[in-house]
Amino acid sequence: MSAQQTDCIFCKIIQHQIPATIIFDDSHAIAFLDVNPLASGHILVVPKDHVEQLIDLPDIIAASIGSVLPKLGRALVQVTGASGFNVLQNNGEVAGQVVPHVHFHLIPRSTDDSLGYRWNAGTYNDDQMDQLCVAYQQALL
Ligand code: AMP
Ligand code: ZN
Repeated sequence: MSAQQTDCIFCKIIQHQIPATIIFDDSHAIAFLDVNPLASGHILVVPKDHVEQLIDLPDIIAASIGSVLPKLGRALVQVTGASGFNVLQNNGEVAGQVVPHVHFHLIPRSTDDSLGYRWNAGTYNDDQMDQLCVAYQQALL
């Protein structure tokens, strides 16, 4: 049995305590239709253990989730006929996370679907990129 949290809506779905349209279920992950889809066929892929954010996910579960994303993506393209899809994963309230149990959105896209986001790209000055690179490499040690 995976680690669950009693007041978590996704844990309740995993334990079949509340209904969901489940399209995939294996030992580490479950996938079901988002009940308020950004597009028809919008899928949520959820680890069975209650883990709040991506950074808390153990390697083995991360690997398992990673391996089902392409499979579900292929199914999404086949079933919805989408010409592309976004994989979205929100961490923390500031990033738009509403349900505090890790989940990946697979969102079908089509031309002129009016979905989108502000992509206000910036630039770096001088050696900012090199400094960031060193900081990241240190953090990864
Ligand atoms: P996020 O903002 O990344 O936390 O996304 C949470 C998503 O969960 C939203 O897109 C909701 O529509 C979806 N959601 C919440 N409750 C349910 C539920 N009971 N069944 C299916 N999807 C849900
Ligand atoms: Zn949970």
